[in-house]
Amino acid sequence: MANRSSQNEDQNFITREETKSKKAEIDAKIKENVVTSGTIFIIKFADILNANNSSPEVISHYMQRVLHSIFFIGYVSKPRVYPEEFIPEKILESFKEKFPGPFKDYLSHVPHQTPYSILLEFMSENKNCNEPKILMQELWEINKSLWKTDTNIGYQPVANDFTATVIAYSCYGDINGNNNVNSAYGSSISCKGRVPRRIMIHISVLQVWDLAISYAVCQEGDSPALVFPNQVCCKAYNFHCNSNCFLEVPPCAKCMKSFRGVKFNPPCENPDDDPTWPYGNCAENESLNKLLKGCQDLRSRILTEKNIQGKQMDIIEIETMFKKEKEEKLKKNLKNLLGSQNITLRKDNRKLQSFQPM
Ligand SMILES: [Zn+2]
Repeated sequence: MANRSSQNEDQNFITREETKSKKAEIDAKIKENVVTSGTIFIIKFADILNANNSSPEVISHYMQRVLHSIFFIGYVSKPRVYPEEFIPEKILESFKEKFPGPFKDYLSHVPHQTPYSILLEFMSENKNCNEPKILMQELWEINKSLWKTDTNIGYQPVANDFTATVIAYSCYGDINGNNNVNSAYGSSISCKGRVPRRIMIHISVLQVWDLAISYAVCQEGDSPALVFPNQVCCKAYNFHCNSNCFLEVPPCAKCMKSFRGVKFNPPCENPDDDPTWPYGNCAENESLNKLLKGCQDLRSRILTEKNIQGKQMDIIEIETMFKKEKEEKLKKNLKNLLGSQNITLRKDNRKLQSFQPM
């Protein structure tokens, strides 16, 4: 009996050790992917800024924001990645000298956007992007170079943690593309890992997005949803590594339920299928948020669906409802998420301090 029990203990010990070493192997792979993806992103983004003949001020502004966002996401990732690990050794000192802010503030300030969302903002502000197809072609070329691929397994990405695979384009006004059209691009939340992704969605909902979008995201498809005027259209594009372009993609059921009245093109294919990703993840949120923030006339026309008493809320009532019913719970969630990564951030006027490039 004694022998059998010690055999069992030995086996248990071996199994525990095997599990531990497997976990360490998986963790090392995850970390390697985050580091490789971050490094590729930083180098490519520096190339894009330089190739565009941007002024030193513009280069510094965008580079600081991208570095800070990558450093913050690296720190809240599991396993943790420190800023120095993202920058190749030979350029580390010059980066610290040129961009000291992100190295100093990545633990005390939150980023407002993922790195890819900042890249998209730069591209849409600095290129001729009235025609989505032209921008999508440029982004396709960029995405291709952001993905470390492995041709042995069918040209599959092995490190693409900071690349957005879906871009959405929204417009308000004349949908035939004539005068007076407001338009905006947005990307899906482009970071891997459950905790970093949830943290970025919470920051977006609490500190970045128009509160009408935050409200819609928090409703999680429940009534009453937002109702947009019918001059709002939205198109999304999905990046396929093997094809030669971004392909148009219909919205998911979550977006269709949350943003009523928007003309999605192509339309939602499976309105009853709830996708597995979290609310707030889709590119449509960021795109519609920017559209709303850039157009007061559109904001004033946003309503909710009628409730059972037949009443619709306007934008002021939606904001009040969000603050009253959703905000405190979300703040607590965010505090817990950050706490789980040992981060305690200072507040500034009841909000977490946001990173500002110097
Ligand atoms: Zn969606």
